[in-house]
Amino acid sequence: MQKLLSAFPLFALVLTFSCGNTSTAINRPNVILIIIDALRADHLSCYGYHRETSPSLDSLAAMGTRWENFQAQAPWTLPATATIFTGLDAKQHGTGRRLDGDHRLHNEVPIIPTVFSSAGYRTCGLFNVALLNENHGFARGFDNYSCADFGGGRAAVTVDEFLQWLESSNDNRPFMAVIHFFDVHDPYNPPPPYDTMYFPDDTLTVSVWEIAAGGRVVHPEHLEHFLSRYDGSITWVDTQLGRLFGELRMRGYSDSTIIMVTADHGEEFLEWGFIGHGGHLYQEVLHIPLFIAGPGIPAGEVIIEPAGQFDILPTLLSICSIEDTTSFEGVDLFSMAAMDQRSIPASQLMFNGQVFDQTSLASVVFGNMKGLVTRRGNSDSYFMFNLQDDPNEQMPLEADSTLTELLDYYRATPMLWDPPLVQDLDSSSTRALEDLGYI
Ligand SMILES: [Zn+2]
Repeated sequence: MQKLLSAFPLFALVLTFSCGNTSTAINRPNVILIIIDALRADHLSCYGYHRETSPSLDSLAAMGTRWENFQAQAPWTLPATATIFTGLDAKQHGTGRRLDGDHRLHNEVPIIPTVFSSAGYRTCGLFNVALLNENHGFARGFDNYSCADFGGGRAAVTVDEFLQWLESSNDNRPFMAVIHFFDVHDPYNPPPPYDTMYFPDDTLTVSVWEIAAGGRVVHPEHLEHFLSRYDGSITWVDTQLGRLFGELRMRGYSDSTIIMVTADHGEEFLEWGFIGHGGHLYQEVLHIPLFIAGPGIPAGEVIIEPAGQFDILPTLLSICSIEDTTSFEGVDLFSMAAMDQRSIPASQLMFNGQVFDQTSLASVVFGNMKGLVTRRGNSDSYFMFNLQDDPNEQMPLEADSTLTELLDYYRATPMLWDPPLVQDLDSSSTRALEDLGYI
């Protein structure tokens, strides 16, 4: 019990940055936050994958600091990206799916672009899925914003859009950009030669969307087809990011620009019976990459302490010396607080259209241990896994009192914001979300 009591203050730690000041913005670094949709960490070479999927990202990670145990805090795009944007977990920001429909970001919750804009930054947001469009609240605070309803295959276009904006908006203010790529997300259709580079003899043509009606249950013989195309999609995005990083170097931004790379969530490939994401809270979906490189960031460091998406905004503010009165659930990842043992929660908000024999409700990573509560019918079951000995979560243990109480504490977390329902989706956005299985 003593251990539990000492954990709670860290679990509920709220950082407060005080007093804004925009006069020193000119001396602050530029920031590029790259979010690669549906990218699980263990398919990047720098996280030990057997294929060399990601040479450009590996180089960036080696030049900076990489987090070995970084956690998504929701298993699908809308609530997970809202956590990145707010520094709050999903139960606090309230954005996501509930019984009455999808709730957008609250109109007044401080988010990355509004905080950086207030600090004197010019801001650019480029997104590639309708879940992150203006109707969902993600445009607020960006000087330049665009969102494609379905941006699979648009990585090159998005990089070009950013470079054009960088040239056209140039003034003496630093910039903050959020660039979201959707190319790794299903249906895993990278352009040639990336579509067959890891499986040249592949003759299967079935799309993961064609099997969506069957609950995304894929025949095991099809697995290599989807895995090779997923990996090819990663290499396609990596190639475009290599082009972006090269352009930034050529244009003289290397010494003044922080680059952070992460994902909104990972992806399952039959480990739990289906392909996709959105229902389970196992590590295939929650273990995502995070690395940061740029001026002042330690090079070649690997951090093993668990961390989560709610840490991204407070970390960026600290790196950029931005003082702000916003409160966060996450912490600055370079602070002492991030070195302490603390709980990284994740929650499953309702998600339609997929079939699960057991629905994950919430999870908590605490040191090497992970607690998980699942529901079958009206019955909740509490498990725990030792992630060090059992990283694939194949040996569930009965949750001890510490994990059970951490899970119950998290489940009882009150909502800080009660955002409104998403409204006024146009027909093309609705169609794109239907195709993706989000409606
Ligand atoms: Zn996503």
